[in-house]
Amino acid sequence: MQDFRILRQYHNNPLPNHKNPLPKRRMVDTRPLSLIKPDLIIKPVCERTPLVPSTSKLSTYQILGPGMILLKDYISIKDQVDIVNICQKVGMGSGGFYTAREFERYIMCFGRNWDPITGYENRCRSDGSEPPPLPNELISLVQAIIQDAQAHLKELPSMHPDICVVNFYPSSHGRLDLHQDHDESFDSIRRGLPVVSISIGEMADFVYGHTKDKLEGILLRSGDVLVFGGESRHIFHGVDEVGQYTVPRPLLDESGFGYGRLSLTFRQI
Ligand code: MN
Repeated sequence: MQDFRILRQYHNNPLPNHKNPLPKRRMVDTRPLSLIKPDLIIKPVCERTPLVPSTSKLSTYQILGPGMILLKDYISIKDQVDIVNICQKVGMGSGGFYTAREFERYIMCFGRNWDPITGYENRCRSDGSEPPPLPNELISLVQAIIQDAQAHLKELPSMHPDICVVNFYPSSHGRLDLHQDHDESFDSIRRGLPVVSISIGEMADFVYGHTKDKLEGILLRSGDVLVFGGESRHIFHGVDEVGQYTVPRPLLDESGFGYGRLSLTFRQI
């Protein structure tokens, strides 16, 4: 915790008030969401260098079950900054972040549209926009993650992502109810193709379990990568709590991202 310092929360686009009763009709809010301070200059895409794991040797890790591993501190601060900038640039535009009263987070997708209510089938954004393509540097990063995870989990199947769901959880009040990921194809789920989730920003309490009544919790920190596939592909999981003032100082200084948590979740559907 010594690496973190208290930060001021700033946000000019507050979440809907969840104390109000839910409306009968679904309200999707597609107003642009900025992840960073407006006065920060975003590095153009062409200046970015390829995303690579933080060290040439493997970072520390924790095996959480069959086919499930946490790669700790895997994404370097530099790459976290690049990922924030990609999400900021794309997330502000058409097909970018949106939210709804049912959610306690903002969502955007690369590659394919997916939505917690409509799944992969229907257009979820009220403006009907197409999802932006999945950036090649993110695909390469996920493939490096899978290879490193397979070094510890021989049974873990390979996966080529065709969608990345980006969730933005505001500090302290973002959360995600317990659920299973089962919107992908029968074949993808049957083969246990792994889900890869990258955490950036505030810490989060992640809960998971093979049954709903036997849950365990882990802390996901900025730069951590969680992989669950194989026999753990069906786990129940959710985000119990998102921290406040826990964004690593270098990430804030270099990206201006300091008041929430980004999770990028990759799947092969
Ligand atoms: Mn999930």
